[in-house]
Amino acid sequence: MKRERRFLTILCCLFLLIRFLAFSSVAEVKVYRSVETEKKQIALTFDDGPHPRLTPKILEILARYNVPATFFMVGQNILNYPEAARAVINAGHEVGNHTFTHPHIASLNENAIFEEIGKCEETLAELCEYRPHLLRTPQGALTPNLENCLLEDDYILVLWSLDTRDWDNKSTATIVRAVLDGVSAGDIILMHDYIGYNSKTPEALEQIIPALLSQGYEFVTVSELLGIR
Ligand SMILES: [Zn+2]
Repeated sequence: MKRERRFLTILCCLFLLIRFLAFSSVAEVKVYRSVETEKKQIALTFDDGPHPRLTPKILEILARYNVPATFFMVGQNILNYPEAARAVINAGHEVGNHTFTHPHIASLNENAIFEEIGKCEETLAELCEYRPHLLRTPQGALTPNLENCLLEDDYILVLWSLDTRDWDNKSTATIVRAVLDGVSAGDIILMHDYIGYNSKTPEALEQIIPALLSQGYEFVTVSELLGIR
């Protein structure tokens, strides 16, 4: 009888231990703003495109310096300008998902978020035969609903460590200063290849790339920076 009770106690303890281990290993959402690296590597990212005029202009500058970048595209814009989207992919750059309509994520439930991510993904697959594994939300939003979506999906959320504020009608000189004064190894730099007014991004890029190359920086895609490809 005594032996039986001891056996039951051990069984109960084992059960509690297993439950504790199961609940303490909660999955975590993968979010990156920069990486710690010994190498002098940085990643340029361009959001909101593709744009029929700005995207080819930016591609031309990147090609001239043989610099790779990552483009976080909006599904609707891929639908409207598939040639520009394909030009990005054919040039060997990386493409990430930036939702279908660029909504305010904070106002969306999980189903609506899944739909936004899924529709952008489908558009990229159908028109460009490309499957992204990186996601950037509009305004870099990270809400509990989005976290739940990311736990079910296999996307990696990529935000940024250096905002050039090129979206904020800044002068070329201000954008260039923001990067040259603020940059450090492992940075993910936020720029835009779709801006609704007179964009200074290409002009700024013309100065930023040679200046950083002369400082010994190496430009890589986000996946290369994260060491996942
Ligand atoms: Zn955006």
